Amino acid sequence: MGYIKFLGTAGARFVMISQLRYSGGLFFSIDGISFLVDPGPGTLIRAGQSKPKLKLNNIEGIFLSHRHIDHSCEINLMIEVMTEGGFKKKGIVFAPSDCLYEDPVILLYCRDFLEKIEVIEEKKVYNFKNLKIEIPGKHRHGVETYGFKLTKDNTTISYIPDTSFFPELIEYYKGSDFLIINVVLYEKKENIAHLCLSEAEEIIKGIKPKKAILTHFGMTMLKNKIWEKKDEISQRVGSQVIIANDGMNFEF
Ligand SMILES: [Zn+2]
Repeated sequence: MGYIKFLGTAGARFVMISQLRYSGGLFFSIDGISFLVDPGPGTLIRAGQSKPKLKLNNIEGIFLSHRHIDHSCEINLMIEVMTEGGFKKKGIVFAPSDCLYEDPVILLYCRDFLEKIEVIEEKKVYNFKNLKIEIPGKHRHGVETYGFKLTKDNTTISYIPDTSFFPELIEYYKGSDFLIINVVLYEKKENIAHLCLSEAEEIIKGIKPKKAILTHFGMTMLKNKIWEKKDEISQRVGSQVIIANDGMNFEF
């Protein structure tokens, strides 16, 4: 049915600024529909280097979960790419209101290139081509932040971007077949609005997806060689857990 290409797996500041992991976003291709999620620094370069090369001018939508630079850095660039330099009016950008109205990260001149901007609202369902994009609710991350549940036929793929843990996250993303979770921290750290591994495990246990993919790693996840722990985590949570790496292609 499709694939997700991970153009980066860096989470938070230090892994991003040091480029220990790349920080491009996620490229989705579902039944021939391409869209991009969270175009962080290096998205264009990593997409160009991927093999086979991704056809970026086929992108028909961009989803921006929140305004932080590791997610939004190349949003304007990718709008230009999607619209062939602004000469072809097309595409939809989904973005929280604070990316548009307060200290905007989407430049006004780029907005004219788009067919539409959808201001993300919680509990809303959007029809994007023949995909259904549902926004379960607001995350807790300091700035306006949203994930999505994307459904095509009977398959639901969800993305849980940056957030502190709160139990409703499990209700939000129930019914997901495949779950992508941004897990920055290996161990819990107070006053940092990101998920740690044990909280991600609690979410996976509550949702029971067929497969869960962890990505967006901070320094402590790399120092603890998270990729070596996928089997023990899978056993603990009762779902198959995949540890994303740069350039990974997840097919479903
Ligand atoms: Zn963030």
